[in-house]
Parts: sequence; C-alpha cells; structure tokens
Amino acid sequence: MCAIEAGKRGRRVALLEHTDRLGKKILISGGGRCNFTNLHCSPENFLSSNPHFARSALARYTPANFIALVEKHGIPYHEKTLGQLFCDRSARDILAMLEVECLDAGVTIFLNTKITQVTRTKQFLVRAPDAEFRAPALVVATGGLSIPKIGATPFGYDLARQFGLAIRDPWPGLVPLLLTPEHRSRHGDLAGVSTEVIASCVGQHFREKMLITHRGLSGPAILQISSYWKQSQPILIDLAPGREVTAVFRDPKVPRNPAALRAELRKFLPHRLADRWLELHLPTSWTNPALADLEKQIHAWAILPAGTEGFEKAEVTAGGIDTDELSAKTMESRKVPGLYFIGEVVDVTGHLGGFNFQWAWASGAAAGRAL
Ligand SMILES: Cc1cc2nc3c(=O)[nH]c(=O)nc-3n(C[C@H](O)[C@H](O)[C@H](O)COP(=O)(O)OP(=O)(O)OC[C@H]3O[C@@H](n4cnc5c(N)ncnc54)[C@H](O)[C@@H]3O)c2cc1C
Repeated sequence: MCAIEAGKRGRRVALLEHTDRLGKKILISGGGRCNFTNLHCSPENFLSSNPHFARSALARYTPANFIALVEKHGIPYHEKTLGQLFCDRSARDILAMLEVECLDAGVTIFLNTKITQVTRTKQFLVRAPDAEFRAPALVVATGGLSIPKIGATPFGYDLARQFGLAIRDPWPGLVPLLLTPEHRSRHGDLAGVSTEVIASCVGQHFREKMLITHRGLSGPAILQISSYWKQSQPILIDLAPGREVTAVFRDPKVPRNPAALRAELRKFLPHRLADRWLELHLPTSWTNPALADLEKQIHAWAILPAGTEGFEKAEVTAGGIDTDELSAKTMESRKVPGLYFIGEVVDVTGHLGGFNFQWAWASGAAAGRAL
C-alpha cells in the first residue's frame, strides 16, 4: 500500500521481499478469503501503549477507501458478521489487486532479496547478496514474528534497535490459549465443542464464540482476549451471557435437583459441556445462597491458562516499535529522518475482524503519501 501510494506520486520505489512471493499472509488470511477490512473500524479496536497514535492514519485512509479500491477491481465481497468484509472468491483477489496497483504505479518488485545490511550516511544503503539499493527513504514493512514458517522475521525490530529506536517487547496476539494439564484432563475430551461466551480479562471483554480444543481454548472470544492476557492472569468466562440460569428455581413448583439444573444448562450450552460443567460444579446444597453462588460461577468461570500457542499460531504480533518514536501522521522516525515503520511491526495491534489489515493499509498509505 505504501509502495503504491508513493509510486502514484512519482517516487521511484523498490519493494524488497525475502521470500519467493509477496503477501503470503494475505493468501492465508481469513481462512483463504481475506477479511480485508471492517466497516466499524475505530481506534478502540486497537491495542497500543498509546491508544491515540493510530487515530490520524486510520482517519485518513478508511475502510471506505479500501472498499473503493476493491470495487474498482471488480472483486466480489460480502459482510460476514460484525462488519467483517471477506472476498467471495479468494484472498488471491486482494493480492492480485495490490500487485496490479504496484505495477500501475511503476513499483519495481525484487523477490528472493535477503537483506544483509542497512547503513545510513546521507542516504540509506541496503545490501543484499547480489544487489545494493540506495535511497533517501527506507520504509520497514516486515511485519511481526507471527508464523515464522511463511517468512516472519525479527528484521524490523533488529533494524529499529540498530538505529536506537525503542521497542515494546513483542508478544503473540490473537492466539489460542493452552490449558494446564489439570484443566486439560477435565475438558480435553470436549474438543470441538463451541458456545457463545463473554471472555474477559484485565478490564476487556469480548462476546463471541469459544471453542474447546485438545490443548486448550480457541474461537474468536478467546483469540480476542488472548491479545490482552498476561501470564498469571485468570480469564473469566461467562457461559450464559445475559441469562439468569437459576431464575427458574424461584418457582416453587420446580424441583431443586441436578436433573432440573442440567435441563436449564442444556437450554443454552452444548449438552456435553453442560453435563461436564455440572459434574464439576454441582452445588453442595440447594439453598438460595448456594444457587446465587452457582449463578456467579456460571458467569465467571475462572481459567488460568498455562500459556499460549505462541508465535507459530498467533494471527498477530502485539507490541513492536514504540509509537513515541514515530510521527503519527507519516510513520517516520523522529530520530532518524527518512526511516519509516508501518503495519504490524509497529506497536499497534488490531482486534480480530479485519482491523490488522486496515491498520496495514492505513499506516502504509500515511507513509506513502509522505515519502
Ligand atoms: C493465519 C493468519 C490469518 C490472518 N487473517 C487476517 C484477516 O483475515 N484479517 C486481518 O485484518 N488480519 C489478518 N491477519 C493479520 C494480518 O495478516 C497482518 O496483520 C498483516 O499481514 C500485517 O501486514 P504487514 O505488511 O505489516 O506484515 P506482513 O503481511 O507480515 O508482511 C511482511 C512481509 O515482509 C517480509 N519480510 C519479513 N522479514 C523480511 C526481511 N528480513 N527482508 C525482506 N522481507 C521480509 C515477509 O516475508 C512478508 O512478506 C492474519 C494473520 C495470520 C497469521
């Protein structure tokens, strides 16, 4: 996006990629259909140590701008849920669109170009084994650490350190959580069971689906909250959002016993999960205070994750180049004129739902318009 915007403004742009093709993450995104933006994108959908940093770029390149590009290329798309826009056909449409736009903007693409050294005197000198590039500006768009097997590297962080820029330690975001062996032995056999929950942690909450896996928990609600989770913090899971499960027992005609409670739980939870939860949380008595306590437990099932599935499985890398180092308008380093950082390598991380791409497009456009 940055190369396109700069190319359109007549800049001579070389786009260097160390793998054999551009945009591999685009191809695997959104289950192969690329959730390329979100209609309801706002700064509140991002984590950053400076929550205001993303405002300017997001306001100047909006979802409507990207949708206009998608429509210009005749790419069919649809809204899936919660404002999330996906390709009807394939993520390949988005990548092809960006490649065509690069071509039209006169961008030269260099694949299989492993950068070995970057130095700066009056200009930047970027060395690769069989090429050298000199330019007054260098834009780092090398993403985070997620999914090393398709090309993620710490290049951006290393380069920032080389130039004396501060970094917020990266951590895996939008990532499945691992359960402790104890929890796994209680719930591992429920792998595949999914239900709508509110997952919360450190003041954040997300109402979406949770999925139990062989190793732990996943599904959108868990992926969302994982970005906020810090080791040793419990995650609270509301298994019955908006419901008062034990209300039925106010009716004196309803018997207070496990069978009646099971029937209530089974009204909204998958049966296997309802039965297991009851086995593990059977009330010791059926008094009003005991039922009130049970109600509380249903809405705040505390899980202490053993960890996450790590960068191998994380959809995004949180943390990154400290936003205090960059101009919010142009993404240029305050300390090193001509050096820019855009996209996921910056300490701006989107929620699940097309926000990470919108940040990549918006921050790329901001830099591309400033080069
Ligand atoms: C499985 C998966 C699904 C996702 N689905 C979605 C989704 O549907 N919607 C959404 O909004 N977000 C999604 N994301 C997140 C989104 O893909 C990223 O946030 C986004 O691609 C970041 O863009 P970027 O340009 O900053 O970095 P990247 O897309 O990671 O691109 C960085 C590029 O730099 C190259 N590179 C790295 N190191 C070097 C180096 N040393 N030299 C040269 N080149 C280098 C890489 O090979 C890569 O091509 C998904 C992520 C994953 C892993």
